[in-house]
Amino acid sequence: MTVMKSLAAITAVSAVALMSSGVAFAQDKGLIGVAMPEQTTLRWNSDGAELKAALEEMGYTVDLQYAGDDIPNQLAQIENMVTKGADALIIAALDGTTLSAVLEQAGAAGTEVVAYDRLIRDTENVDYYTTFDNYQVGVLQANSLVRGLEERFPDQKPWNVELFGGSPDDNNAFFFYDGAMSVLQPLIDSGDVVVKSGQQGMEQVGTLRWDGAAAQSRMDNLLSANYSDGTVVHGVLAPNDNLARGVISSLRGIGYGSGDLQWPVITGQDAEVPSIKAIIDGEQYSTVYKDTRELARVTAGLVDTVLSGETPEGLDTTTYDNGVKVVPSILLTPYEVNAENYQELVVDSGYISESDLQ
Ligand code: BGC
Repeated sequence: MTVMKSLAAITAVSAVALMSSGVAFAQDKGLIGVAMPEQTTLRWNSDGAELKAALEEMGYTVDLQYAGDDIPNQLAQIENMVTKGADALIIAALDGTTLSAVLEQAGAAGTEVVAYDRLIRDTENVDYYTTFDNYQVGVLQANSLVRGLEERFPDQKPWNVELFGGSPDDNNAFFFYDGAMSVLQPLIDSGDVVVKSGQQGMEQVGTLRWDGAAAQSRMDNLLSANYSDGTVVHGVLAPNDNLARGVISSLRGIGYGSGDLQWPVITGQDAEVPSIKAIIDGEQYSTVYKDTRELARVTAGLVDTVLSGETPEGLDTTTYDNGVKVVPSILLTPYEVNAENYQELVVDSGYISESDLQ
């Protein structure tokens, strides 16, 4: 008992000593709330970890939360961050339109709000947006799809292609789709590409919550309704790796990739390890690499600049209108990754490790 008491006393004294010397708190530049959508798409795990590490290194305390793809859960997490007095919020929103009220509270409290990767629409209370050039992501996907079609099916024009979109409550999904269609629509119009199902436009091809299982079952339906007469699918526009893998499972289920049925050209996004493996195996044709480590670092730097009272420089002030205002943005560059360049782009750069691919 005596020993415990004196230990407690020592602990208390040390705490006071640290506080008065300023050692324990010298680094505390404030609280940053980081709200991430979910952990099934592999990238969000590293986005969260990289943001936390970068901000902590700069001296901030970080409250990192994952919403498990649940919209009310994300709202509650952000409300809690505002209640705790966060100096800045970094939000990759599930459905930005549900956040208006809590962002108004944040705005009133002077909290800086950064929309991370996904723009938050229809609110005054978003100060910055950091992302990749999302339209360009779609352009890269479609260019890669067309190149793959020329490579794999040079003599089989018109090519049968089916289209998938991302989640309709994710603003990015429209940019990806529009970018891709800027390349594909002229080919559909000229008759080089045929969408046999006739399903086009985000209202028909969108995939709620970016759900891979939903993509798989939509592909099952497309195949049985439009291709059971033996017509071959030559290509699938898949907007990210998770959906690409759903599409691949569906195609594998009816024999693509074996016998005479060559793998269609399937695109993706995120350079996820299972998809890089699928690219090496020829099942997926390409993906789009977005260096999320850089996005995290750039975002942490932006927050630090703003909270230090300085004005961030070099922002894009024309591209992203959220319906209420143009949100000053930082746009990073995405890259197509395929069997030829994956080693250089994603392995040599350290984004994924060689051993992950074994
Ligand atoms: C991101 C993609 C991601 C998708 C699903 C999009 O907003 O930009 O990188 O694949 O969400 O999580």
